[in-house]
Amino acid sequence: MKTIISYLTLIIILISIISCKDNKQPNNKTIQKSKFALVVHGGAGSITKGKYSIEKENEYKNKLEEALKVGYEILNANGSSVDAVESVIRVLEDSPLFNSGKGAVLTDLGDVELDASIMDGKNINAGGVAGIKHIKNPITLARFVMEHSPHVLMFGSGAETFADEFGLQKVDNNYFKTEERINQFNKNKTSAKIKDSKFGTVGCVALDKNGNLAAGTSTGGMSGKKFGRVGDSPIIGAGTYANNNTCAISATGHGEYFIRNVVAYDISALMEYKGLNLKEASDQVIKYKLPKQNASGGIIGIDKNGNIVMPFNTDGMFRGFIKEGEKSNVSNYK
Ligand code: ASP
Repeated sequence: MKTIISYLTLIIILISIISCKDNKQPNNKTIQKSKFALVVHGGAGSITKGKYSIEKENEYKNKLEEALKVGYEILNANGSSVDAVESVIRVLEDSPLFNSGKGAVLTDLGDVELDASIMDGKNINAGGVAGIKHIKNPITLARFVMEHSPHVLMFGSGAETFADEFGLQKVDNNYFKTEERINQFNKNKTSAKIKDSKFGTVGCVALDKNGNLAAGTSTGGMSGKKFGRVGDSPIIGAGTYANNNTCAISATGHGEYFIRNVVAYDISALMEYKGLNLKEASDQVIKYKLPKQNASGGIIGIDKNGNIVMPFNTDGMFRGFIKEGEKSNVSNYK
């Protein structure tokens, strides 16, 4: 009898060990994937209802939709957030509608000088370029600086010579100048105050399936700027910032204030050190801190959980977002 009992006990122990092991090791190892998401902006400023014809408004909306679609497809196919950000911004740089790449504003000397930057939140690697006059897509050059140089920021002819090493597409400066921008330049020459206060910079932030954040920004700068002036867009921490632990941010607005207030990093720092969430942190900077200095503009942001913000303190901001499995959403006004 005693032996039977000890046999039964042994069998029960063995069964419980096996079932316990089975519970701990499921056959299919499940890797947690993030729900991806993507946000774009096409600049903040005096974008009020009635300022643009319905046709023009639709042109802006369609281009933002097109850019979102390009990013969506990359992220959906398991592409990285850096790939998505670069590709989305290239679409907007190639469009004459925005103040980046083709269609950028002219300097006081009548040339186009472009600034751009990109940041990878996975390793906080970053690249920026300033004062670019002949590279068709400055965001791609910024990415080359990030991934193929030991530097973070390169400017002017040095950056363009670096671009030659990789055969990046070059264009004449006139390629960037649209008729609208030439007219704006001629008007600005005759009036002391710059009338068009729509900024028109473009930017993108993304979260990919692997939970990696990235941000990028590209611009011609402020209209009427002095040649040689560099704004916040190529400055990491001011116009662009990404860190997987906090958020990814791309800014648009009056660059000098965004540099002085280190806007993009400030939002990340409020999250990191003060424990604010993305909405609280970005509202704090865009809606409370900057207006006290009469600093106008806005940002787009995304955090590691896919929460999205798009605050601005101007009349409007061209903006849009899309989340995995959902429809895109594009808007201009408040
Ligand atoms: N932030 C840009 C700059 O100051 C301008 C813009 O956002 O449109 O260069």
